[in-house]
Amino acid sequence: MRLCLIDAVFSRCFYNLMRARVAFVLLAMMFVFNGCAALEEAQRRREKRILEERDATSLMLRPSKAKFKIGDDGRFESDHYTLKFAEDLLVQEGFDKAKERELFAESALGYMESLYDAMNRLFGFKPKHQIHVTLHHLYRGTNLAAYTRTEYNSGMADGRYVKFVSGIHMDFPMRMYEKHGVRVHELTHAFTNIYFLPVWFSEGIAVLIQTEYAKGGLHPKFDSLQADLEIDLDGVNQLESWGGHTDNDPLTQWRYRYAYTLVAELWEKYGADFYIRVFRLMERDGLHQKLAGNMKTSFLVYYFSEAAGEDLVPFFQKLHFKVRKLTKEDILKQIEASRANSLRRRRQ
Ligand SMILES: [Zn+2]
Repeated sequence: MRLCLIDAVFSRCFYNLMRARVAFVLLAMMFVFNGCAALEEAQRRREKRILEERDATSLMLRPSKAKFKIGDDGRFESDHYTLKFAEDLLVQEGFDKAKERELFAESALGYMESLYDAMNRLFGFKPKHQIHVTLHHLYRGTNLAAYTRTEYNSGMADGRYVKFVSGIHMDFPMRMYEKHGVRVHELTHAFTNIYFLPVWFSEGIAVLIQTEYAKGGLHPKFDSLQADLEIDLDGVNQLESWGGHTDNDPLTQWRYRYAYTLVAELWEKYGADFYIRVFRLMERDGLHQKLAGNMKTSFLVYYFSEAAGEDLVPFFQKLHFKVRKLTKEDILKQIEASRANSLRRRRQ
């Protein structure tokens, strides 16, 4: 097997919290029942369990049994994380003594492990890699933005393109780490970005989980997907060109709100398990790893339609997404075509 690796960085999430307010209130959930009786029952059980686990102080968390250790390089490590303090934090009050950092790391990793377990129960899957968390005083010159990066390698193996995750990193300025909603938002990225999602869906589902489960959302839903639609000069929904890291773009706040409204509408219509089913179907096929570049919205809508049990292309077209209806054969043909092109290029 020939494997040629090309380093790539898959970077997601700018999160601006100028107006952040964290409200701890009980979860109100909409139950939408569909599918067979067994599915309804499983869904009811999941909802009940999540509701039971929540209260005003613990949110969706259970106490963590995770152990942690200190590595040679000064990193703290638990089952699913490593944690380190950036240089600029080491001179700040509360972090300048080794004992203070150790106490903080123990508490932080315990909390993050509980959150990890909650996410795992919510999504039904978890990333294979440890998540490397770095806490800063300022990150990229600000204390108002947290970032999650999912790195992947891509290249040719046996004449086929393949990409796979090689590392997950989270960077928080302390001011952002202190906000529960931000931790939930970023951890949602760490979990779901292993599927190489379009930015609009990645952000939409992160705001959904942050708002509906952690009650730490700051992007209110729009009243209507139609009335609040924004399109570009080509007539395409402005979500589609969202590349992330667009803090100075006047559309950024609209994009967070609209993506959340869209993701929430499908969730309410097709059930709280809808996205769990989407990710399960993607995992089963593994096609997201074989397509070059970022995931196209048409590919995502193929899985949405599979999970919903009905064709959702007209719904997305009505919202001015540039999508077409795909079959699995179309996707497999695309993968084979890129393989044939690559073989042809190697012969030349
Ligand atoms: Zn984000």
